[in-house]
Amino acid sequence: MNTQTTAESEQHPIEKWLRSERMPHMWCAGCGVGPTLYAWIRAPDRVGIPREKVVYVSGIGCCGRGSGYLNVDGFHTTHGRAIPFAIGLKLARPELCVSVISGDGDLFSIGGNHFIHACRRNVDLLVICTNNFIYGMTGGQLAPTTLLGDRATTAPYGNVEPSFSTPHLADAAGAVYVARWTSIHLRRLEKSIAEALQMKGFRYIEVLSPCPVNYGRRNKLPEPDDIAEWFRQSSVIRNGANTSEISIEKGKPLILGDFVKRTGKPTFYEVMKELEGRVKPR
Ligand code: SF4
Repeated sequence: MNTQTTAESEQHPIEKWLRSERMPHMWCAGCGVGPTLYAWIRAPDRVGIPREKVVYVSGIGCCGRGSGYLNVDGFHTTHGRAIPFAIGLKLARPELCVSVISGDGDLFSIGGNHFIHACRRNVDLLVICTNNFIYGMTGGQLAPTTLLGDRATTAPYGNVEPSFSTPHLADAAGAVYVARWTSIHLRRLEKSIAEALQMKGFRYIEVLSPCPVNYGRRNKLPEPDDIAEWFRQSSVIRNGANTSEISIEKGKPLILGDFVKRTGKPTFYEVMKELEGRVKPR
């Protein structure tokens, strides 16, 4: 017997994931954060993970605000500290499916050390970085992901510092799953998130994400669609590519894909449980 009410059957599939009373959201036209979160909330249904088990932990920044709009349990944490909050949560409640979704400044500048050590320990988390090459919310300052030559409020003559290739960093530090997509590759991103949700250990997905307001405006890509058009024209999908060869350079192909899938590596929780079994109480 179909027990769905008319109201339920007319509901949009993602409506249950949203706190509609908080709308409209604060993101600018053309921003990549909204599409990334859309892909993330579509993925659990694909693989049969109930909403009640899904947790979203975010840091500070435009992306970090997402936790306030989604109807899942979560934490909106302090700057750069989303991963430590998520580690504590996952160790205390290992049955939960914990994702950290935050920006490049939050995860790789202020939170950089947390990122590499969580990879190294193989903590059981999915981390998604919306990389818009800049600090968006705080006004367009240089980030560790800002490309060489790009302008920022703190680099008015152009960036002279080499940028992190975040998939390469995650791979080198030991993440078991590493991928890169853009916020316009929604189906592939959703599939990649669904695959990562079913794995154990530290999984990382970089999502190249337009910030027309604070990145585009300073870098000759001012219209809401300009950065998306750059992504569309330059993207090349190369699954399994060597992460040491996928740095982003203007004028060169943007290499996307699933790059790393490691199996058999114990998670931090499994290592701790094994230790607990071996250590006799004094
Ligand atoms: Fe998105 Fe940039 Fe606007 Fe922030 S400032 S909401 S990152 S477009």
